[in-house]
Amino acid sequence: MEQNDLPYGVLVDFYEKIEATTSRLAMTDYLVALFKKTPTNVLDKVIYLTQGQLRPDYEGVELGVAEKLTLRAISKASGVSLKSVEELYKKTGDPGLVAEELLSKPRQSAGLLGYIGEETGKRELMVSHVYNSLMKIALASGEGSQDTKINTLASLLSDASPKEAKYIVRTVTGKLRLGIADMTILDALAVAFTGTKSARDVLERAYTRRPDLGFIARTLAEKGLEAVRSIRIEVGVPILPMLAERLGDPGEILEKLGGSCLAEFKYDGERVQAHRKGDKVWLFSRRLENITSHYPDVVNFMLTLKADEFIVEGEIVAYNPDTGDMLPFQELMHRRRKYDVKKAMEEYPVRVYLFDIVYLNGEELIEKPLPERRKILESITPPRDENILLSQAKLVDNVKDLMLFFEEAISEGCEGVMCKSTGNQSIYQMGARGWLWIKFKRDYRMEMTDTVDLVVVGAFHGRGKRAGTYGALLMAAYDPNSDTFKTVCKVGSGFTDEDLANLPKLLEPYKIPHRHPRVVSKLEADVWFVPAVVLEIIGAEITLSPLHTCALGKIEPDSGLAVRFPRFTGRYRFDKKPEQATTESELIEMYKSQRKTVVQA
Ligand code: ATP
Repeated sequence: MEQNDLPYGVLVDFYEKIEATTSRLAMTDYLVALFKKTPTNVLDKVIYLTQGQLRPDYEGVELGVAEKLTLRAISKASGVSLKSVEELYKKTGDPGLVAEELLSKPRQSAGLLGYIGEETGKRELMVSHVYNSLMKIALASGEGSQDTKINTLASLLSDASPKEAKYIVRTVTGKLRLGIADMTILDALAVAFTGTKSARDVLERAYTRRPDLGFIARTLAEKGLEAVRSIRIEVGVPILPMLAERLGDPGEILEKLGGSCLAEFKYDGERVQAHRKGDKVWLFSRRLENITSHYPDVVNFMLTLKADEFIVEGEIVAYNPDTGDMLPFQELMHRRRKYDVKKAMEEYPVRVYLFDIVYLNGEELIEKPLPERRKILESITPPRDENILLSQAKLVDNVKDLMLFFEEAISEGCEGVMCKSTGNQSIYQMGARGWLWIKFKRDYRMEMTDTVDLVVVGAFHGRGKRAGTYGALLMAAYDPNSDTFKTVCKVGSGFTDEDLANLPKLLEPYKIPHRHPRVVSKLEADVWFVPAVVLEIIGAEITLSPLHTCALGKIEPDSGLAVRFPRFTGRYRFDKKPEQATTESELIEMYKSQRKTVVQA
């Protein structure tokens, strides 16, 4: 075996173990063992592959080969007719299994190397070769690219064992979903390369500046922990955004923030992290996808800022060109279409409200308190521009003023206000949900007026009218402390017929035969999923419930929290990763503020 590469079979053994386990700890142990076995120069590739990708998300290198092309490649590699391949696919629904089954038969294809069996001493398939071929497939574009994709994949499959072929096919079709959290990978890296978990903090800090696990892993393995410590923010590479906690009581908010705060309008749009270096601009979404091509107008707005090199944050908001009024978030969905962005730009114009700056001309500003950052932001924002503005903000130090400002925000079409600490400690906390920013939306009263974003972790089969689709989905909140998803409700209402028809297909790639190790549930679902899909849910109220595991024992012994009468709002939160769903502590907070309002009323 070559010392600078890893047999792909080793990775495949690891995939199989991960798929079979229901223990979260075992996941980390398997990762540690894998990393220890992996030569340094393919460590990044192994990590990306493990996550079913080739590069970090924000670079936008997409695998997702269409199933049709994949089946053609399988046909070519196995020598089985396309018709038979398609038939088998109809039966199994998993192109990976099709590849595995057809490639375990003696091959009839001429010219290709072919898998003849272990005993023949066939050359081992190595990770680099798999990775490079997948990269070639991902990058092929333009004329002839379909043929390149099919031929490259067919040749790779010909060199693979049946089991390897199964995972290669799942990877190219975007169906390798192991559900390993980035934080678990950081834990495993710490143990594998420093011997203890204590280095995890350093790795996590580097990750908030540069969320590229492959890069961090190689830096650690090649240059050591000190080099990881000195990883800096780089223009063009998104940082993890700072997040807010939420409270429902203005008095409590002010108290938490030391008596006064900067209250800002909380705009209902799409969060954007804009980077600029000279004439080049990058736009990243809340979950760090590159969304530059959706907003050529925002790119131009960024070029009007008075600095050459910066990273700023703001909210992109759609508005009605006739009245100038702000429109709700949903209107931005028109910008997601691939073609005719120009037309969408005219029909659905947007403005940007800037609220933070984290980097300017070579200097990181994250350690500076908010008032200083805001001043710097103001100094580079053109005055009186209609398209790019500073967020509306006001320093407040009493409940009355805060409520007045809040009402103003609501009447202008905002969701509420963001209350931000202005103290010396008011740094930009990358990647953290903390008390330096507190969101204050329309109150939580008895009826739940605020929505929650929950993760689909399981489902129950539908009956009667719903036969063939799901009757209800098992939904969970995220608990960052234990890195697990804890159930809060079964949701069956709010779905349109179209939603219902699409659900099985939408969730198919995440289906697993048992509860995912990161899911904590007392209920036994009919079908389990890798936590991945986030849905927006509204309910009547948040109640105590012995059935659910969210906040179990934290408010009352033997009781968790549940959303009563939950309903899907129609909003799929594809812009959120499961780890960005509503957290257990947010639900506890919502429950408490609900009670407080009831007591006060
Ligand atoms: P979160 O981003 O906290 O996970 P979410 O995506 O469901 O939750 P909200 O709970 O509505 O969003 O509130 C947070 C979001 O509000 C921010 O991520 C940002 O997009 C948006 N926002 C609007 N105005 C501001 C502002 N002035 N300052 C900070 N964020 C703002």
